[in-house]
Amino acid sequence: MDNDMKYLVAVLLILVASPARGDPHITPSAKYDHEFPGEIIVTEMPSEAKLRKLCEGFGATFNKSTAIACAFAHRGKCFIFTIDPIEMAYTSYTWEQVMRHERAHCNGWPSDHRN
Ligand SMILES: [Zn+2]
Repeated sequence: MDNDMKYLVAVLLILVASPARGDPHITPSAKYDHEFPGEIIVTEMPSEAKLRKLCEGFGATFNKSTAIACAFAHRGKCFIFTIDPIEMAYTSYTWEQVMRHERAHCNGWPSDHRN
């Protein structure tokens, strides 16, 4: 399989695996939905598989078939790792929704998304 084909297959898989629209967990708890008081460093990973591996290496768990992003705060900085915006377009989430969600994790929102 050439690379274009592999990419197309990956995109199709993501499309099929997209979580339901209107996921209540995408909008953060109001308590954590504010600016992060430090630097946020966003890194786009070259594939969903690499993103998943990296995030899981940091202890993240994904309850969906497609990993979209994860965030870790460390020494006043927050590191957000995400799939690239092109792949994001094939999920049911916008880039802005995902960044707002991850920023809430930067602010201490627990990974189980409780209020
Ligand atoms: Zn989350």
